[in-house]
Amino acid sequence: MDKKWNKIRQDFPLLAEKMNGEPLAYLDNAATSQKPRAVIAAIKDFYEKENANIYRGTYALSQAATAAYESARKKLAAFIGAEADEIVFTKGTTSAINLAAFGYFRWQLGPGDEIALTAAEHHSNLIPWQQVAKATGAKLVFLPLDKKGAVDLAGAEKVLTSRVRLLALAQVDNVLGTEQPVKELAAMAKKQGALVLIDGAQAAGHLPVDVKELGSDFYAFSGHKMLAQTGIGVLYGRRELLEQTRPLEFGGEMIREVSLTDASFKPAPQKFEAGSQNVSGAISLGAAVDYLTGIGLEAIRDREASLGRQMAQGLEAAGATVYGYGGGIVAFNLPGIHPHDLATALDAQGIAIRAGQHCAQPLMDWLGVSAVARASAAFYNDESDVRALVQGVSAAKEFFN
Ligand code: PLP
Repeated sequence: MDKKWNKIRQDFPLLAEKMNGEPLAYLDNAATSQKPRAVIAAIKDFYEKENANIYRGTYALSQAATAAYESARKKLAAFIGAEADEIVFTKGTTSAINLAAFGYFRWQLGPGDEIALTAAEHHSNLIPWQQVAKATGAKLVFLPLDKKGAVDLAGAEKVLTSRVRLLALAQVDNVLGTEQPVKELAAMAKKQGALVLIDGAQAAGHLPVDVKELGSDFYAFSGHKMLAQTGIGVLYGRRELLEQTRPLEFGGEMIREVSLTDASFKPAPQKFEAGSQNVSGAISLGAAVDYLTGIGLEAIRDREASLGRQMAQGLEAAGATVYGYGGGIVAFNLPGIHPHDLATALDAQGIAIRAGQHCAQPLMDWLGVSAVARASAAFYNDESDVRALVQGVSAAKEFFN
């Protein structure tokens, strides 16, 4: 078993690098993942053999680039149980959520309507809804969380009334790593006639996702967090909802007919992809999907949960306060030491973690802290990274005390 994961680790060239003269223990995967050779090769191959702008060329090279881009869309659709025309390429989760918020919900909601969220949302799944609420007169309501940061189902039932038109929440939160009972919540919301948007930034590529089975109407995720390039992501939308969603960007390639004073648009998803697209990004995401499915999402989920558990146990034994953990993510602090100081001390030892508010200020308030340290493992991490983290935290504790 370990042999298999050892071999997989060798696929990630950056993991062999040193940081500050020490072997790198990269434990900031919730911020962005490292890239396997297969993804790097797909990007390189595209630029060496296929690069041309898509849709516009009558020549073979442009047609090959277009085919590669559309083939990536098909892979992404299969990856989450959708159809290709339900996959909109975006810059990432943030722009995907903004597209749903300002292309669809901005025009559907009004005074008296409610948007249900949780206090554990990343700012990307909070600020757009604050702005939609301001623009439409709709109100934000929040599902109660239990001690572990998971939505309390009985409490949620009380908040999810017929006034709620949208439930928007992260499948897995980026600080505590809590996997929310999204399927149950989506069913509850649907019973009241609400739509469901899932922020899958920390879920896609970490566990099997089937958007239809989850009951999501919109599902957003980022390529860079699941082995692909930055600047590419996906908004899945149910076909009939995408048909009603207005584009946010206007220009070339998204149009059907243009006169001097008006234009008609192509059907979804092309009407949302104005201008020259991130073709190599989409191709890298397609290659990432191939790589991830080659390993298996169940195996990835188990591996990351095991590394997360080992980190949480080791950190607690080293005297850290662990606020929560799930998947490969652990949120913690060393009493009396600011997490930024801790992260700086770890950096000197070659250990990369993130410290701060993690774009989740309301969750910090809910935890009653100003900031936390977060270690996040991916399937390509191993026990040596866990050991480095725990030893590094022990050494920092001694140093600061
Ligand atoms: N949602 C969650 C849960 C996240 O963890 C992140 C990124 O950290 C985002 C949304 C935003 O993703 P991006 O910055 O790729 O748009």
